[in-house]
Amino acid sequence: MTSPSPLRVRFAPSPTGKLHVGGARTALFNWAFARRHGGTFLLRIEDTDRERSKPEYERAILEGLSWLGIQWDEGPDVGGPYGPYRQMERSAQHVAAARELEAKGAAYRCFCTTERLDALREAQAAKREKPGYDGLCRAIPRAEAERRVAAGEPAVLRFRVPEGHTQFVDLIRGDVTFQNAEVDDWVMVRTDGAPTYNFVVVCDDSAMAITHVLRGEEHLTNTPKQVLLYHALGYQVPRFGHFPLMLGTDGKKLSKRTGDTALEDYRDKGFPKEAVLNFLCLQGWALDGKTEVFGVEDLVANFDPTQVSKAGSIFDIQKFLWLSGEYIRRDSLESVADHCAPHVVAKGWLSASELQSKREWYLAAVATEKERIHTYAELAERIAYLFAPDDALVFDDKAEANGRKQLGDGNLVKGYVAWLTPQLAKGVEAAALRDATKAWMAERGAKFPALFQPLRCALTGEAGGPDLFDVMALLGPERTLARIESGIRRLSAPATTGTTP
Ligand code: GLU
Repeated sequence: MTSPSPLRVRFAPSPTGKLHVGGARTALFNWAFARRHGGTFLLRIEDTDRERSKPEYERAILEGLSWLGIQWDEGPDVGGPYGPYRQMERSAQHVAAARELEAKGAAYRCFCTTERLDALREAQAAKREKPGYDGLCRAIPRAEAERRVAAGEPAVLRFRVPEGHTQFVDLIRGDVTFQNAEVDDWVMVRTDGAPTYNFVVVCDDSAMAITHVLRGEEHLTNTPKQVLLYHALGYQVPRFGHFPLMLGTDGKKLSKRTGDTALEDYRDKGFPKEAVLNFLCLQGWALDGKTEVFGVEDLVANFDPTQVSKAGSIFDIQKFLWLSGEYIRRDSLESVADHCAPHVVAKGWLSASELQSKREWYLAAVATEKERIHTYAELAERIAYLFAPDDALVFDDKAEANGRKQLGDGNLVKGYVAWLTPQLAKGVEAAALRDATKAWMAERGAKFPALFQPLRCALTGEAGGPDLFDVMALLGPERTLARIESGIRRLSAPATTGTTP
């Protein structure tokens, strides 16, 4: 990597779906590589699949990258000297390349019908031979092929794979050599004139002066076809690098079963953007083998594709949640509160402006959970109890069972309420109330669970959670007393089969 400035890399998504986390990692690594070497990172939209390509997917991909802060220097929206950046707008160049290859004899027209190709495949399968085109139309003289095409006979354009072997450099896997015989005479242009991926990707990567093609391992089998085409066209072959597949914790290709695959799902679930970037960095790359929490600036300063691992990377959602929680813990209370606010408002408990006018209260509520949550959305789940009706709080089974067991005859809690009521009239100051309560308990020689477990169930409905005196401060005196009274009543009534009344 000694010639920095001419370095040109690209991310070339097909707009046939949302931005996949694997695609986001490909974009991130390419971007970091360009930034590290003062090169150029461009975005090219590969929209040749007319049926599946949709403008809304293109928008979603651009939005996803922008959310992550991955900026492209050239692309369909910002333009650039090598445009256009949507493949369908580059058809004239693709047609010219197809003609050139045909004229050179490096590509030929194939008139084989689907029926013939099906029969060929079946016969190969019966003989346990590798499936592939047998080259029947290779021998058709070009003039004859042209006549038949002019007469309207449907034909595809196939690449004429030469004999011999071919080599290319894979920055992650090293030198790769393959026998050309392993590569079929593949279709470059379909009967309807639509070009195929392997054909146009070479035309466009070359026309856009791409120096390094860094992409996912799923494309490794395409690379031999592409290298042969570079040679046939007399183009300089770029360097290649194939990032390892992202695998679920079950060791299989990442799928919905083991985690969401769309980047936007993580954004919508309230994973901090910095945590998403950090986690993507760890998919096949490591900073120093021990530091796990690091920023994108560390990736930019150190990224080297030759150090990316060959082995599949495990997309471990538990680790992702842990990392996300780390970012939340390290962030300021104000910032976490701001990021959580849309998730709280989305619950419908109060409007954005109401939340703003209760800012101090809201900050105190976030403070009780900040150390514990893994995502911004989780905050909303955890503080839901504060917005529940005081007389119909949902008790979870464990909280209710603990509460009932510890309540006993109820006299300790009733005595506490009698003591607490005048205390609360002075307002709730959590630390002072905590100390005073402990002293009250000590005087009676009472055990903490006997008081705190019924109180916790009555105040939050849950068996675990924030400090009870912080909860009392958030609820305020009236709601605190209302919940405790209703809670004692419910916990001393005979148990019903359901979890809540
Ligand atoms: N359009 C291809 C994809 O989305 C890009 C392949 C490449 O980077 O060459 O998988």
